[in-house]
Amino acid sequence: MSISVTDDLDKMINSLLGRSGPAWFCKACGKETFNKSNIKNHVEAHHVESAGFACSQCSFVCKTRYSLYFHKKRIHEKKYKDTRRKKKKTLAEASELSAA
Ligand SMILES: [Zn+2]
Ligand SMILES: [Zn+2]
Repeated sequence: MSISVTDDLDKMINSLLGRSGPAWFCKACGKETFNKSNIKNHVEAHHVESAGFACSQCSFVCKTRYSLYFHKKRIHEKKYKDTRRKKKKTLAEASELSAA
């Protein structure tokens, strides 16, 4: 199941995270950042082997969930907006049709 894979992945990522005062650091290479999600993405991208994350909207496979998020934003967000606009128009057309 994909859920347990993600749980294992999070466990692996968390096991490589260290805390140094206000900063987070990567136990594998010593990289430091103040942003926890940055260090998690760093670990996921550089130190964790995963089968990859397939985009639900196309067949593209990203190495990390973070890059999948940006793939979706970059490739599908415009499409998503267009779809919403189309849906609105379709609804308007539908109400015109039912009124007539
Ligand atoms: Zn590292
Ligand atoms: Zn995609």
